[in-house]
Amino acid sequence: MTERIAIYPGSFDPPTLGHLDLIERAVNIFDHVIVAVAMNNEKIGLFTVDERMEMLQELVSHVPRVSIEHFRGLTVQFAQEKGAVALIRGLRVVSDFEFELTMAINNHKLAPEIDTVNLMPSEPYLFLSSRLVKEIAAFGGNLSHFVSPAVGERLKAKFVEE
Ligand code: ADP
Repeated sequence: MTERIAIYPGSFDPPTLGHLDLIERAVNIFDHVIVAVAMNNEKIGLFTVDERMEMLQELVSHVPRVSIEHFRGLTVQFAQEKGAVALIRGLRVVSDFEFELTMAINNHKLAPEIDTVNLMPSEPYLFLSSRLVKEIAAFGGNLSHFVSPAVGERLKAKFVEE
C-alpha cells in the first residue's frame, strides 16, 4: 500500500505546544506528516522561515514519521506535489470554525482528491495561539505552559533584541 501522507500547513510563528499536540495526533492517523511552513509575503512574522523550521525540527525530534518543509503559494498545490491525501488543520474554539470551513470547502474544490482533517487539541491548548504567546513574551510573562523551553528562550531573545 502507498504511504498516506498528510500536510500540516501553517505560519508556526512560533510553534507552540498546541501545534505539537496536533502533530502527535496526526502521526497516529497517517503514515507520514509533513509540517509545512507557509511563506506568505503579506504576513511578516516575528521569526524567519528558517528559524520556524529549526524550532519545529527541535520540537518534533521525538516524534517519528514527521518532516519539516516550507512552501510558497497554494497549500493544495504543495499537497499535490507531495502526493498527500489530507490537510491537517486545528479546530480550537468556535471562532475557528467559519474560517476553517471556508478553507476546507474551497481547497476541496481546487483539489477534490485531498481532504481536510480538522483535529481538536487537548484541553490545555484549546485557547492557545502563536499570537497569544507573542503577547505574553513581549511583556515578559511565563511561557512554560505554552511553548517548549527552546522556543521560550528564542522568544525571550527576540524581545531583548527589539
Ligand atoms: P495559520 O496562520 O495558518 O493559522 P498557525 O501557525 O496559527 O497558522 O496555525 C496552523 C494550524 O495549527 C491551524 O490549523 C491552527 O488552527 C492550528 N493551531 C494553532 N494553534 C493551535 C492549538 N493551540 N491547538 C490546535 N491547533 C492549533
